[in-house]
Amino acid sequence: MAHRLQIRLLTWDMKDTLIKLRRPVGEEYASKARAHGLVVEAAALEQAFRQAYKAQNHSFPNYGQSSGLSSRQWWMDVVLHTFRLAGVPDAQAITPIADHLYEDFSSPSTWQVLEGAETTLKGCRKRGLRLAAISNFDRRLEDILVGLGLRDHFEFVLTSEAVGCSKPDSRIFREALQLACIEPAVAAHVGDSYRCDYQGARAVGMHSFLVEGPEPLDSSVRNSIPKEHILPSLSHLLPALDLLEASSPMP
Ligand SMILES: [Mg+2]
Repeated sequence: MAHRLQIRLLTWDMKDTLIKLRRPVGEEYASKARAHGLVVEAAALEQAFRQAYKAQNHSFPNYGQSSGLSSRQWWMDVVLHTFRLAGVPDAQAITPIADHLYEDFSSPSTWQVLEGAETTLKGCRKRGLRLAAISNFDRRLEDILVGLGLRDHFEFVLTSEAVGCSKPDSRIFREALQLACIEPAVAAHVGDSYRCDYQGARAVGMHSFLVEGPEPLDSSVRNSIPKEHILPSLSHLLPALDLLEASSPMP
């Protein structure tokens, strides 16, 4: 009996859904600082980074686009602020470190493909699903995906920097649907953030799956989502799609 697919497009979050940093940010920063003769604790840098990133994102959302910053400048400022918070206020000493960090984070070798990602993407394509990326990332993502050997799985890669807004803003999801010429009811998004991915996609009428990361899901989040929308690992995606299609009326 022919199986008629309901879902035709799968859109994917990237960071911590399909790819992740090889080492925590604090360690990368500390190792780069050490190479420049500066000893700063990785744990202090990790904590400072979180604070600096949050503050920068709040003051200049989506890589500072509406403030006329380049994403490179945006990141340089995050690095300077991070080291300042970790007790190194000397911007002149940090600038070459920030330059190198920007280059490093553009390099595929700083990233790794998460377990099961390749197999799952291949399985989806074999099943005839169209795939695309929707990521809160700057334009470096495309080259990182090429370097990691993942780019060919996706029809297109939409970054928040290119679109001009970030998830959960519905405009980025609508842009993807428009590019694919697909109605939201036959599209599903997969990601690890409840707010940005799961809720963002559902707000435009797409289906959505939440991938569980290494940290357990917050119990309020777990209780607010049907359990068949939660993927304990990527290998749960295809069975979850089967379940979704079996439970939905034929289009
Ligand atoms: Mg993510």
